[in-house]
Amino acid sequence: MATLYRGKYTAKPTHMKVIEHIAQATDTLISFEVLPPLKGKTITSLYNHLDPLMEFKPSWINVTYHRSESMFKKKADGTFDKVEVRKRPGTVGISAAIMNHYKVDAVPHIICGGFTKRETEDALIDLNFLGIDNVLALRGDAAKNEANFEAEPDGHAYAIDLQKQIANLNNGIYVDEDIQNGGKTNFCIGTAGYPEKHFEAPNLEIDLQHLKNKVDAGADYIMTQMFFDNQKFFDFVDACRKMGITVPIIPGLKPITNKKQLSVLPRIFHVDIPTDLSNAITKCKSDEDCEKVGTEWLIQQSKELKAFGVPVLHYYTLGKPKVIFNVVKAVV
Ligand code: FAD
Repeated sequence: MATLYRGKYTAKPTHMKVIEHIAQATDTLISFEVLPPLKGKTITSLYNHLDPLMEFKPSWINVTYHRSESMFKKKADGTFDKVEVRKRPGTVGISAAIMNHYKVDAVPHIICGGFTKRETEDALIDLNFLGIDNVLALRGDAAKNEANFEAEPDGHAYAIDLQKQIANLNNGIYVDEDIQNGGKTNFCIGTAGYPEKHFEAPNLEIDLQHLKNKVDAGADYIMTQMFFDNQKFFDFVDACRKMGITVPIIPGLKPITNKKQLSVLPRIFHVDIPTDLSNAITKCKSDEDCEKVGTEWLIQQSKELKAFGVPVLHYYTLGKPKVIFNVVKAVV
């Protein structure tokens, strides 16, 4: 049975851009990130996840995008069919549902991978019709069956090209050249930054130059990959500012809650785990202990970032709303 949201959250006006939230802020803002539920689960599972966190009045909620994967499904006759499966569909629908349900802004992630320019245009038009004016524009990773990222034949190879398409649509310029004086969208565009370098970039300088190009091409703010050592974020902000990048830089934050993450996170996200943290997690006797250590680490990280003056603390909630609740409770 669907639960109705009855929390203490008092609705703020929606339909504000991320940069407007930041410009109007009088204190460090809080934002969250969620994954669409696995196909087969209802939206109630997402509301159950978010309900307790709404007490903190997040300024917006990001919704990740997950492209389809090629899978082999066994048929009755024993042979296999190759099928494209999206395990977590619904980024656009969930963004609209979150806005309606909680009266909070949603920031859907949109990616280049798997999309032609025309499909991207249609997705952007849907978002515009739904009153969603925020997007985080990303390239996406290689598909599971690809060694390297491969753009669609008529798709974008880099996030900057996707951003340019969005900026064009904001000026009424459509991929379909027959459309003259087209309606203008009004997207606020976020872009990704990597304090520890994107894994494909030959070095941090070149990665930062690509980031600067994305900002010069119209990205309104940078949201970072997770990191566990604040010094890496401080150095990254410093390097960005020295290059002339002036837009807000939002730290992405995630808790460590089990031992497996000590190897999984570096492998998947190409981030380092500081020795003090990895030693403390290694010593833990149970997942519960790990969660305590990870929670305390993230509280300290968040407090230090707040003191540094970050505009927003952005938390990847990813199945751990209780941990994030305890962290934010200790920080706000
Ligand atoms: P880009 O900015 O295009 O950069 C990719 C690489 O190419 C970098 O090494 C860069 O230095 C280099 N590069 C950039 N421009 C050029 C150029 N012109 N010539 C040569 N090299 C260039 N993935 C998802 O699938 N779904 C999500 O919801 C999602 N959310 C994310 C949220 C955040 C905050 C972050 C940090 C990442 C997220 N990702 C997501 C992962 C992201 O898609 C991958 O990290 C991807 O590999 C790179 O995306 P990007 O937008 O940074 O790409």
